Amino acid sequence: MAMMEKNIFLDIVEGKIPAEIVYQDDHCLAFRDISPKAPTHILVIPLKEIRTHADVTEEDCELLGRMQLAAAKIAKQEGLDGYRLIINCEESAGQTVPHLHLHVMGGRDFTWPPG
Ligand code: IMP
Repeated sequence: MAMMEKNIFLDIVEGKIPAEIVYQDDHCLAFRDISPKAPTHILVIPLKEIRTHADVTEEDCELLGRMQLAAAKIAKQEGLDGYRLIINCEESAGQTVPHLHLHVMGGRDFTWPPG
């Protein structure tokens, strides 16, 4: 799948397109994936516009930690006893939406290595 040109996640942040929001704080927003690949599949995004994981800088250190903390809180909230966190960086790794996002997936067993 190709990377979309439009940053649709920014539209979700701005409330222009609907999403089932499960968590938000001053730094991050999390909502259910529209096409879930596991019984629980949630995306944690920074409110700040960052295109890919490769674009993060020193000044994003706290933000990255906040995203991880949000994921742990969400996993508890969702009652997951195990879960997988994934960030796809760039098209070659499967990134389709040009806004950094952390996949929180659970509710089933996962294989290793991922495809
Ligand atoms: P990526 O492939 O790592 O970039 O993940 C993008 C994810 O966003 C995919 O799992 C899509 O199913 C999901 N997605 C795309 N559009 C929407 C939407 O409008 N709402 C929620 N999830 C979306």
